[in-house]
Amino acid sequence: MSPIIIKSPYHIDYIYSYGQDSPFFAGLANKKLLGTKCPECGYSYATPKAYCMYCGTSCDWIELPAKGKVHTYTTCYYGGESFLDETPFNLVLVEFEGLDTLFLSRLTGVKAEEIQIGMQVKPQFAKLPRISPTDVWFVPVRK
Ligand SMILES: [Zn+2]
Repeated sequence: MSPIIIKSPYHIDYIYSYGQDSPFFAGLANKKLLGTKCPECGYSYATPKAYCMYCGTSCDWIELPAKGKVHTYTTCYYGGESFLDETPFNLVLVEFEGLDTLFLSRLTGVKAEEIQIGMQVKPQFAKLPRISPTDVWFVPVRK
C-alpha cells in the first residue's frame, strides 16, 4: 500500500520591523538616501547608525550628497535570492564627500571592465519601492 499524501498549500505573513533604521527605508521610498551624523563628535556615517561608535551619542539623520564616487568594487557571480536574476552584478563601496564611512550597493549601467575607482556615481531608486535594501542602487554619472 502506498503512503497517504495530502497536498495542502499554506501562506505565512512574515512580520518584522526595521526598528531604529526605519527612517532609512522611508527615505528610499521617497528617493532620498539618508545617513547619520554624531552631533557630539561629528563623525558621519553613510549608513543608518543609531549610536555613534566612537562616543555613544545618539546620531541624527542627514541626507547624503546626490553624487558619490567608487571607492572600490567587485563583480559577484553568485548572490542572494533577490539578486540571482542579475548575476553577474557589480558591487561598489561608494564614498561621499564629507562622510567618514562608505555605502555598499550595486552598480548598474556599466560593464565590470569599465568601472574605475574614483568614477562618479549617483543613486537610483525603485519606482515601486519594496521597503528593502534593494530599493537603491547606483549608476555612473554621465557627463
Ligand atoms: Zn560621536
